[in-house]
Amino acid sequence: MNNVPLFFEPIFKERIWGGNKLCTNFNYNIPSEKTGEAWVISAHPSGSSKVKNGILKGQTLAEIWEQHGELFNKHHDHDEEFPLLVKVLDANDDLSVQVHPDDLYAKNKENQPFGKTECWYVLSAEEDAEIIYGHHAKTKDELKEKIASAEWNALLRSVRVKAGDFIYVPSGTIHAIGKGIVILEIQQSSDITYRLYDYDRLDEDGLARELHLESAIEVINVPHKLIAYEQEEIKHSGFTSKLLVKEEYFTVLLWSIDGSVKKELNADFLQVSVISGEGEIIIGDDKYPILMGDHFILPFPVKAYELKGTAKLIVSHT
Ligand code: ZN
Repeated sequence: MNNVPLFFEPIFKERIWGGNKLCTNFNYNIPSEKTGEAWVISAHPSGSSKVKNGILKGQTLAEIWEQHGELFNKHHDHDEEFPLLVKVLDANDDLSVQVHPDDLYAKNKENQPFGKTECWYVLSAEEDAEIIYGHHAKTKDELKEKIASAEWNALLRSVRVKAGDFIYVPSGTIHAIGKGIVILEIQQSSDITYRLYDYDRLDEDGLARELHLESAIEVINVPHKLIAYEQEEIKHSGFTSKLLVKEEYFTVLLWSIDGSVKKELNADFLQVSVISGEGEIIIGDDKYPILMGDHFILPFPVKAYELKGTAKLIVSHT
């Protein structure tokens, strides 16, 4: 039972900026035309993914993490939380401009185990689609002034994005996903968001969403720093692996398979998102089909496996 991949059912979140692309692009059974997020690998208290195959079928990732530590090579105290969260987001409209705290701030001020460093792989983007990433203020005082006088255009950094782009968003970075972008997000398992600006939008009830300016200003990195990181690529016949980021909380890779590749599991567990194509994963004598829109975990007891087909995967681990 231990060397079986855990495939998960997505959990959907309706959002004022959501749309229907999680259905049109991935065939997910979304609750409405305002579906913003699919939490596809999650053990977070706000929504823990259920396994849809094997003898653990119906159990949540949070329960499995609690009861089957051996599947994750869990070697720390048993009260530690599952560290990562994978989502697909459909930004049919602009998301609010926001920032997340680091671990220390999350523990001290929010009594939560994790802050939120996140990263995005752009699955699709309309022409001229933009994100907000960072700001132009040189000091905290300048940041506060620009926020107080609502000089958003002068303050915020806009960046054009296209499908295939990768964006690393450490805690303390001001950011917003813009209209017309669908992303796969890998992040620390945290839900703490400080909203800075919401384009003065009102919801159905005529209410503006709450802002959290004080906390936001406390956690924003000033000045914004551009991070350079290596993105090395390894090629074999039928397989390419591109490192997207390797940092304190997660390592994320893009794998392109065209044929077959044999791999060893060199991590405590592997999170896999099939972002295009199809194929199969072979573990011992067992084969499991994989298809665009599938998300699964390869647990620690899977020592070796083979991937076959024509597919692109985003693979992440701690
Ligand atoms: Zn965020």
